[in-house]
Amino acid sequence: MSKPIRAALPPPTASVQPAVRTSQPVDSSRVFLGLMGLAQRATVAASADGTPDVIAADILRSLLATLQFRDAATLGHVRRVVKLCSGMAQHLSCDGRQLRILETAALLHDLGKIGIPDAILFKPGSLSPRETELMALHHNVGMDVLQACRVDAEVLEIVAQAHLHYDTSRDGSRREGKAPHLGARILGVADAYDSMRTDQVYRKGKSHEESLKVLSTFAGTQFDANVVNALAHWSRSADGQAALALTVKHRDLPLAQVAQHTDEAPDAESLSQIFSYLYQLESLCDGFYLLDADLRFVVWNGGIARLLGYRSSEMLGQPWSRQLFLPDGTADTADLDPDGPLQRALKTGKTVTSRQKLQSSNSEQFELEMHTVPLFDDRGGLQGLAEVFRDRQHQHPKQASPQDLLRSAALDPLTQVLHRGELDKELADLAKRARRNLISPFSLIFLDLDHFKQINDVLGHAVGDKALVEVAKLLRCELYSGELIGRYGGEEFLVVCPETPLDLAFTKAERLRLALTRMRIEELQPNNLSASFGVAVWEPTDTDESLKKRADEALYLAKNEGRNRTRTLRLQRGKAVTESEFQLPVVDPWLFTGKFLACMTANLTVFKLRGYVNEHKGRVLEVEQKLAVVRLGHRGLLSFLQPLETYMPVDVTFEFGDEPPANAPVHVNRRNHAQIGVSIRPSSTEKDSAAFQIRAKKVFQDICSYFVGEVQ
Ligand code: GH3
Ligand code: MG
Ligand code: MG
Repeated sequence: MSKPIRAALPPPTASVQPAVRTSQPVDSSRVFLGLMGLAQRATVAASADGTPDVIAADILRSLLATLQFRDAATLGHVRRVVKLCSGMAQHLSCDGRQLRILETAALLHDLGKIGIPDAILFKPGSLSPRETELMALHHNVGMDVLQACRVDAEVLEIVAQAHLHYDTSRDGSRREGKAPHLGARILGVADAYDSMRTDQVYRKGKSHEESLKVLSTFAGTQFDANVVNALAHWSRSADGQAALALTVKHRDLPLAQVAQHTDEAPDAESLSQIFSYLYQLESLCDGFYLLDADLRFVVWNGGIARLLGYRSSEMLGQPWSRQLFLPDGTADTADLDPDGPLQRALKTGKTVTSRQKLQSSNSEQFELEMHTVPLFDDRGGLQGLAEVFRDRQHQHPKQASPQDLLRSAALDPLTQVLHRGELDKELADLAKRARRNLISPFSLIFLDLDHFKQINDVLGHAVGDKALVEVAKLLRCELYSGELIGRYGGEEFLVVCPETPLDLAFTKAERLRLALTRMRIEELQPNNLSASFGVAVWEPTDTDESLKKRADEALYLAKNEGRNRTRTLRLQRGKAVTESEFQLPVVDPWLFTGKFLACMTANLTVFKLRGYVNEHKGRVLEVEQKLAVVRLGHRGLLSFLQPLETYMPVDVTFEFGDEPPANAPVHVNRRNHAQIGVSIRPSSTEKDSAAFQIRAKKVFQDICSYFVGEVQ
């Protein structure tokens, strides 16, 4: 039984207080923010135009300009299809609004092609089965964008159905024997006719007669026979002949003359990016929806419609409710649960990953992985929220999380860390925020492998490549506080450390440097890798370029002073100077320190700590008002069967601060958060400091997640 939608939806959750966001956006939030931007433009246009008719003119112009920017040939096709649809529809006595709706749908039916990767879109020759599958995703991408643009519901219906077979028993759709919308049937015929008529790289276009013959062969199955007849009749009429002659002439025009929207290129470029991110999202997740700042559905994609059984026409514009999708009998307070994923995402300003038991409209129950992504603009204002779903139970081939996968487009193929372009973009974004004092200063660490050329020369390029891959892996393992890691050049890496002062960045760099010298790569034996490090911190007069330059100069110093060392540079009266008076912290290999903010008051943290110690069979060694020392891990009889880093006994000292430090992120509520300082040492004499550092790091991460802490 399907639940009554309107009755189940509560009013928008006005009690939710969104946080102001300070961390850098992940790629998935960028695509959703782009979609929200379109939705807002559509809303503004609607209120300016009075009643929006089918689609806001300004949005239509932008979309078509983007199509031209990306693929002028498709824009030419689209325009011919509009002419054909319009002719056939008038022949079938459609006029007025019906006609406008059909023409708009025809104009927008191939919009999703904007997101298709070049390698597929412009492939000379026919597509492989996998490529065809990927190509087909453009329907979904187009629908996502059209929904965000708040296009008329009937246009959405026509575009959604245009590629379906007329005979519903053949396309496996769940339309219960209903034929597609008449507009979709007309559009389907016009689209196929124009494709057949047009020369493709791998085949010549067919004549008018040949094309009609193919359409007639499939009339009644793939195409509506009435519509095919209408095309045949109309093409013989005077109007039809004139229109077809125009489309033929149009087809022969050079592409540059086909489109006339060239003045909108900047907008087109950023819209193109939204499309290509969406394309990846569509290929990698099982479903998603997008909510505006009032928590109303703006996009309800095809995947989520299939999973949950509710159509976009039922959901768009409705207020969000978790309750609607939860199994029968679940507490009916889920929407107001302050610890629910949506509320947590709004509170912390970060993506929350959870597992959700859900129930579809026909009472089927299943469990999905859900990513709740809060969307904030540059000024920290809440723009909306997205929830992305993945189906693990069904052993979907889609492995990584949507964020990982979206990000994969921005990864260096060899080392799987960010590539330079992406890193520069993130850096420019951070610099913008730092200039507006939205975030505390961040640091850069440049590292360049020492004498790497010799490795290539002596051991070969393949070993060099392997070393680069291992270095990137080490960076990913060693950095866990939200740093961005990228490959900046051949054997040069850049680490961006958000909210990190210079001394901490230096310590981090030294930790990396030591870890690198300890790394064993079989082919390099008996030698090890080493790298030189340059570190700089954001200063108020900096730009992203000047900051990079200073970190690079510091790296140059490290190289000049003999390599395998870290150097820092600071700005003094506009000049970069060395840190001679800067007390370089001594790096103690038997000490691990960290800080995090716990989402609870200071007195509760002590209670919670006891729970943690019990769960981990640890022992409290000492408790004072603001300090506790606990011992975790012990050597048992069979311990030697496990790696030392999983059980090495360590003493953990907790220092409880009353409230967050002055430089805590803006979203932190001072009364509800406590800062906890952690320092970890081995409980007894150990030999392997590297194993200790790994053990300590794991313990720290574990404690953080137990306290739902944010690493400082
Ligand atoms: P230095 O200590 O001064 O940094 O010396 P170096 O030899 O590391 O620096 P140099 O800039 O002279 O040489 C860098 C070498 O890195 C040259 C190039 O062969 C190698 N390299 C760059 N990219 C790659 C890559 O993708 N794979 C491999 N195997 N080697 C690369
Ligand atoms: Mg080098
Ligand atoms: Mg180099």
